[in-house]
Amino acid sequence: MRLANYAGRATIVVDGHAVDVERASNGALGSDPMLLSDLAHHDALRGLAGSADAAAWPLLDEALLGAPVPRPPKGFGVGLNYKQHAIESGRDLPTEPHLFGKSENCVAGPFDEVVIPAGLTEIDYEAELVIVFGRTCKNATRDNAWSYLAGVTCGQDISDRGEQFRPPLKQFTIAKSYDTFGPIGPYLVTADELPNPDALALTGTVSGEVMQEANTDDLIFDVPALVVWLSRYITFQPGDLVWTGTPGGVGEARGRFLRAGDVVETYIEGIGTMRNPVVER
Ligand code: ZN
Repeated sequence: MRLANYAGRATIVVDGHAVDVERASNGALGSDPMLLSDLAHHDALRGLAGSADAAAWPLLDEALLGAPVPRPPKGFGVGLNYKQHAIESGRDLPTEPHLFGKSENCVAGPFDEVVIPAGLTEIDYEAELVIVFGRTCKNATRDNAWSYLAGVTCGQDISDRGEQFRPPLKQFTIAKSYDTFGPIGPYLVTADELPNPDALALTGTVSGEVMQEANTDDLIFDVPALVVWLSRYITFQPGDLVWTGTPGGVGEARGRFLRAGDVVETYIEGIGTMRNPVVER
């Protein structure tokens, strides 16, 4: 299934049409997009998708899409999870995942502005696959890890490098959690929609220039490994997010940081493309 926050309402995308969940279910399901990331509702959503007369619903207008998970209970990001990015950052390859927090306030929609706080000059892009938990998860195993996930979406892990590495202590969580620094979307796509959810082509573009090009089968710690590692310590709930890490080609390595007027595009095979204009204020 391809699920969306469409004009603030839970929506299933069927053949390019926006099927409103509350209306299609005659009120059996609500309108809050947060219900989309709860696997408890997925059978009902599949039923609606299967029985919908798509043509009777409006054609989807991407400009009205919001973050498919607008209020994640919690969010994390993974550092240095592609070999090429670890090398360009001048660091050793990790032997276990490195995590930081991304707080709810940073979540933005797939076509929303990324806002650079006035005067900051080291704001960077990071195109990433984002996984979305769909049910309570503790002590997952490699074999059942995907079964805890509602699906995947595209994400940007926008970062203020100046703050992230400010001595004497590093400050990843704050530097990656400014308002609008976590756009996600355009859709929450269930794993069964994807030919191989562990091998998805990913492209990050800034103002038309391809900066990052990779495949998620290059992840050092793949999706099951991350779910296993994190759920040893932390109980996950529907709507929790993990930004799984970014491949090589970030602005810090190129000396090319984001500035007002840039447009950041994030494409992942089978999910779609986000397009976030950059402004400063
Ligand atoms: Zn990242």
